[in-house]
Amino acid sequence: MARQTRAIINLSALEDNYEAMCAHAPNSKQVVVVKANAYGNGAVEVAKKLDAKASMFAVAFLDEVFELREAGIESPILVLQGPHEEHECELTKHLNVVWMLHLEQQLNWVNKRIENGELTDDRHWVKFDTGMHRLGLPCAEYDELAKAYPHIFSANTVITTHLARADEPEIDDALTRTQSFLTLMANRHQHFSIANSAGNIALPSAALDYNRMGISLYGSSPFENKQIVPNLKTVMTLESQVIAIREIDEGEAVGYGATWVAKRASRIATVALGYADGYPRHAPSGTPAYFDGHIAKLVGRVSMDMLTFDVTDLDTVEVGTRVELWGEKLNINDVAKFVGTIAYELMTRVSARVPRVYR
Ligand SMILES: *Cc1c(COP(=O)(O)O)cnc(C)c1O
Repeated sequence: MARQTRAIINLSALEDNYEAMCAHAPNSKQVVVVKANAYGNGAVEVAKKLDAKASMFAVAFLDEVFELREAGIESPILVLQGPHEEHECELTKHLNVVWMLHLEQQLNWVNKRIENGELTDDRHWVKFDTGMHRLGLPCAEYDELAKAYPHIFSANTVITTHLARADEPEIDDALTRTQSFLTLMANRHQHFSIANSAGNIALPSAALDYNRMGISLYGSSPFENKQIVPNLKTVMTLESQVIAIREIDEGEAVGYGATWVAKRASRIATVALGYADGYPRHAPSGTPAYFDGHIAKLVGRVSMDMLTFDVTDLDTVEVGTRVELWGEKLNINDVAKFVGTIAYELMTRVSARVPRVYR
């Protein structure tokens, strides 16, 4: 029996999500974020599906560009961390990349290339730090930087920032920071990119020239707040299969370390997927999975290649029964919450050993 473990990727749901997100901000151009293999969904397939529609793609660093170019994707690609080393700048035109510059050293590398005619002034964006304190130039140094690197701050330049709390629109943090950032920059620049998925949905004042959208396209709500229900369709369904069933007595334990002990005579289903496939090892007993129309609970520790579930109350489960770990029948955000993480992490960690099947 071949292992029936796979991630089914619904590309038409992806396209519908893209359209739904565009409808939120019809005056913005859309940057499709495909870093980390498109959050585990497959960067090449995602980019191919949206190539005709998206303005540009975005990845974290240069290495992620090559795979897309080799696959024939031609749209510009925004590199969110900018060049890590100066020599990467030499590839700007050849790879058709746009750098998001966040460090003074990067301003210098690009400024001197514009000065000597090697680059035009539309191959970079500039990122400022508005309180996330991770990447970005200090807003207070704007005047000094603009003076030192005049070619960087041109009329074409897209000025950008990333909001730490856009996914919590119920508090005003993201709104306040957007407003003060725009107030500071308004007399100086005309082109802006602020919103990620959450901003695009819940913070219209942040949806400007370009929005950078990741998680929403892959079908997961960026909001913890269940009152905000964006119109998104599931893209990834992670599925596997029962490969063994056993009956155990009350008092018997399951799995490494005997962390789960049966409180009654129980029926245990072993499923062909484990932490080597990217299922989180710290998922606790009780984490749900979907079996044949019903939810069953994980029992015992997650192994490298297997999971065990209590199916005592599910008579129809047998060797060969299909199991959905998350996806169309079981919302990934619900599983993430149980595991103490977010959908971003669950999706991106589905490992290379899991075949992606595109529908
Ligand atoms: C990953 C990333 C995004 C996309 O965020 P989502 O929440 O997935 O929409 C946007 N901007 C930057 C700078 C990012 O690193």
